[in-house]
Amino acid sequence: MIEKERCIPEMILKLEALLKRMPEMEQGKEKVRSELNKRNAGYKGEQKLDYYLSFLDEKEYRIYHGLRLTNGKHYFQIDTLLVTRKMAFILEVKNWNGTIIFDPEFHQLIRVQNDKQEAFHDPISQAEHQSRQLRKWLQDRGFTYIPIEFAVIISSPSTIIKSPTNQISNRVIHAHRLIHKITSIEKTHTAERLTEKELKKLSRILLKKHVLQEIDILEYFNIKLDTILTGVYCPKCSALPMIFHWGKWRCPTCKTSSAIAHHQAIKDYFLLINPTITNAEFRRFTHITSVYTASKLLAQMDLEQGGEKKNRVYKKPAN
Ligand SMILES: [Zn+2]
Repeated sequence: MIEKERCIPEMILKLEALLKRMPEMEQGKEKVRSELNKRNAGYKGEQKLDYYLSFLDEKEYRIYHGLRLTNGKHYFQIDTLLVTRKMAFILEVKNWNGTIIFDPEFHQLIRVQNDKQEAFHDPISQAEHQSRQLRKWLQDRGFTYIPIEFAVIISSPSTIIKSPTNQISNRVIHAHRLIHKITSIEKTHTAERLTEKELKKLSRILLKKHVLQEIDILEYFNIKLDTILTGVYCPKCSALPMIFHWGKWRCPTCKTSSAIAHHQAIKDYFLLINPTITNAEFRRFTHITSVYTASKLLAQMDLEQGGEKKNRVYKKPAN
């Protein structure tokens, strides 16, 4: 049973909004584009896993995608977590192409692709670290006896995996071997550690304690706020800006009209600039001149509100 669905990572949405609202010649745009490509490839790799996970017995396995938890000030994120009555299983998903070579001595991974070598953190150490963090997290909440297993999943079937020792074959597998791996490990754990009631309790706590990662994307790429393009994009031809006239957004380029084109603009604002917006900020960002019109459009969006009158803010919906 999927307890926490996989959703498009917030960082991808932020990068897409940023790319769209950066002027063409702006410095750093290439960096944003390549970061977006990297994140999209990683997300696609994780999605490929879903096909294999769909073969697991729904009654036995509880599946959590993209959990981010904290032990005090340290956060840890788990690509996919499986929980059964007998164990917890961490899946660390990697979308590497070409040939990957594990270097157990220096806890490093070398990827060779198109005659180019690149070094990465060893994903086994990474998954071990997550196991330790999860163990502590569970212990702090009274779940002491749950064995924690992990595997590094290589999502692309054509990736060649190499290692000087055969120790890693235990821990690193191609996605199509996933079910075999999980069931064979499950067999080594015979004792039931959690009752159905405890599983439900754990599920409730995991979902409640999940923390969304808030990244200030402009700060991350060192981009000045005043370089961000403002205005409402045309949903049909992507021209900027549309003009609000007689209750509708109208595109001067392709003549499309829309009553809701500002919805995307406000989403962009929340992703790029601030998770709250005032009437004045909304007008500046969408080029609306009337306070009255702005407040009508904002009210129609059913956003959660805070503050009174002039200090009223409209809040970004929690996913
Ligand atoms: Zn247009």
